Amino acid sequence: MKPCPVCKTQKNLIKKDSYRQGNVYECATCYTGLFNGELPTYAGADIEEKNYMKFLKRFILTYEFGYLKKRQPMRILDIGSGSGELALQLSKFGHDVTCNDIDKKSLARISKRQKLKTLYGSIEKLSIPSSSFDAIILRHTFEHMDNPNKVIQSIRRALTKKGVVIIMLPNYDSLCRKIVGKCWSGFSIPSHRYFWTIPGLSAFLKNNGFRIVKKKTLFSHYGLPLNLTFFVKHPVIRVLLLPVFFLLGGMLEIVFTQIGKGQNLFIEARKL
Ligand SMILES: [Zn+2]
Repeated sequence: MKPCPVCKTQKNLIKKDSYRQGNVYECATCYTGLFNGELPTYAGADIEEKNYMKFLKRFILTYEFGYLKKRQPMRILDIGSGSGELALQLSKFGHDVTCNDIDKKSLARISKRQKLKTLYGSIEKLSIPSSSFDAIILRHTFEHMDNPNKVIQSIRRALTKKGVVIIMLPNYDSLCRKIVGKCWSGFSIPSHRYFWTIPGLSAFLKNNGFRIVKKKTLFSHYGLPLNLTFFVKHPVIRVLLLPVFFLLGGMLEIVFTQIGKGQNLFIEARKL
């Protein structure tokens, strides 16, 4: 059994759910969730999005990361860059972006089409010179990391003095997760390894030499609108209720986000 990354305890882990691939546990002290099954064997995910998805994603990324447009140009490392859409957006904001992934095909495409710098390999195995980046971003990536303590120390080393780490991932403390339970999309077993909350991730970052400068939850259509469709198993009822899921689910998800219980959590922390 792996320990809680925040409290380092193995004693206070309570079994919450069973899956074919393993069990999900929750730390009774800090409420961080963890999955103890085997790591999937695939190396990364080659994601090429359709043009309409890229169009939609540009709106989503502006909502999530648009505030970085106002920052002075930074050297940014995008860990888990996937299709490269976020990196492209950030470079349009004037930043100098390097994409990092464990999928070679994705990186080759990014380097050829988007003309962005790329770095292949797991961050904790790369020896990035210290003070190489002003900001390191992990969008829907950190929850995949099986060794968050090693990863955050590698990130800390690669950051300049007062550099920032920005982490966005599914919020284990979201009301959506509490409503739909095991059907929650954020579990994504077995590729998601840890399930973070804002207090848990904040404590983890503080323990690793960071100061929190921004924390909030963000709206996502992956929240209640989509998760309700997973929750209702009957295919006909599911189709009939689709407009209700998207309208009512969407409105509720907006309210959840306003009260800090939205689908995704967002934390920016500065290196001390
Ligand atoms: Zn804990």
